[in-house]
Amino acid sequence: MSIRINNKEFEIYLSAEVINQRNSQLGQLITQDFAGVELVVLGILNGSFVFMADLCRYIDLPISATFIKISSYSSTGSTGEVRSILGLEEIIEGKNVLIVEDIVDTGISMDYLFKALSEFNPAKLSIVTLLHKPDAFKFNYSLDYVGFEIPNKFVVGYGLDYDGLGRNLPDIYQLSTP
Ligand code: 5GP
Repeated sequence: MSIRINNKEFEIYLSAEVINQRNSQLGQLITQDFAGVELVVLGILNGSFVFMADLCRYIDLPISATFIKISSYSSTGSTGEVRSILGLEEIIEGKNVLIVEDIVDTGISMDYLFKALSEFNPAKLSIVTLLHKPDAFKFNYSLDYVGFEIPNKFVVGYGLDYDGLGRNLPDIYQLSTP
């Protein structure tokens, strides 16, 4: 199945069902790994809002769920520019924090975010990302939980946008190669 957004064609890549199964597995892993502790689950806006909502419900722990925002991306290419963190209202010092990201591409945003959040001295800072593009990744820090490793192609849906559109698509689509 394919769709068009702003004259670009996208093909189905990960169905809602496959994503849901993986979310359940990730939730179980996180629940096991953090058994007995409270977790601050920190979603990165805008892209993570759908994944965050679904993943949270598979984590069987006392969690507080909150969102922050950074921005580094426009259209289909990473600009490499990273701005500051907005909206960090939760005190994370001494707490177990799980960063929830939609996608780690070059890794620039996560590198910035991880270093910036580390300065607040959390007890533990972990990362879960639904998608990861290993071929685009420029760093060697480790991602604790990865939903799917995907090729270096632009994706949309399930929270991810193309020019602001497509975040509400239940499935994930990949940009078609012409
Ligand atoms: P990075 O800093 O890792 O290169 O990029 C991180 C951000 O770029 C992600 O949080 C996401 O907003 C955006 N991004 C990277 N790759 C894609 C993609 O394939 N599709 C969409 N929609 N956004 C992407």
